[in-house]
Amino acid sequence: MTSYNQDSFQSRESYTAQIHLPGHLFEELVWWALQALPDEILVGLDIDAQTPHVPEVQALFQSSEHTDGLFQGQGFIIGEAHIVNRGDSYSVHHLPEDWTDDMFSTSRGSRAGRFTHWLHTHPNAPAIPSHADADAAQETHGVDMILGLRFSPEGPLPWYDDVEGVRRRVGAEAQPTPTKRRRRSFFARQNLPVLGVAPSGHKIHEIQLIAFRKNGLGINVILVDEEGLPFGWDNLRTETTQ
Ligand SMILES: [Zn+2]
Repeated sequence: MTSYNQDSFQSRESYTAQIHLPGHLFEELVWWALQALPDEILVGLDIDAQTPHVPEVQALFQSSEHTDGLFQGQGFIIGEAHIVNRGDSYSVHHLPEDWTDDMFSTSRGSRAGRFTHWLHTHPNAPAIPSHADADAAQETHGVDMILGLRFSPEGPLPWYDDVEGVRRRVGAEAQPTPTKRRRRSFFARQNLPVLGVAPSGHKIHEIQLIAFRKNGLGINVILVDEEGLPFGWDNLRTETTQ
């Protein structure tokens, strides 16, 4: 998470807005994604209206192109996450007609409407929006997020890599090594870096996370702790004062 935030900081000028996601929620999302395999999951996210972004953090990651009022919930830390649906890359976006009536009537009370932000997973595929994702995003008031995971054993989902777009990886260990090009082979795949092992036994080789607006513009994600401070905050702060 520290290296992810470092990347968010280095590339801050590429974004017009930012969104702060608590690390404990992020860990939960990764675990839910693995538990749902081979399905994708759709997760509804709500802001915590009591917790705006910490102003110093907001200022540090702010770009010269920063724009206020771009999306609903802008400026507030994400507060909760609920799994809403699971399915393949098309069906996951299509919610049952009456889902708001039954599924969340108790936990969401009178606010049992649509969530502000949405996240869905890409099992063994990069976190880059598909056409179906772009369509689904048109109804989102906040931002859409994609969590891409590369894991093994692959089961019925071999790693699919034939996608163009900017990749945002979590974990310095997972950055591709700039060594000489190797032919894709069974043996090369055995040498993938391992970020961690899930309780399900899956080895996680790569985690990617992005957020975007329905107009296609990227939103910079910052992973924060319980105090709303980014992981690696001390280093980030000293970097800017040098
Ligand atoms: Zn997708």
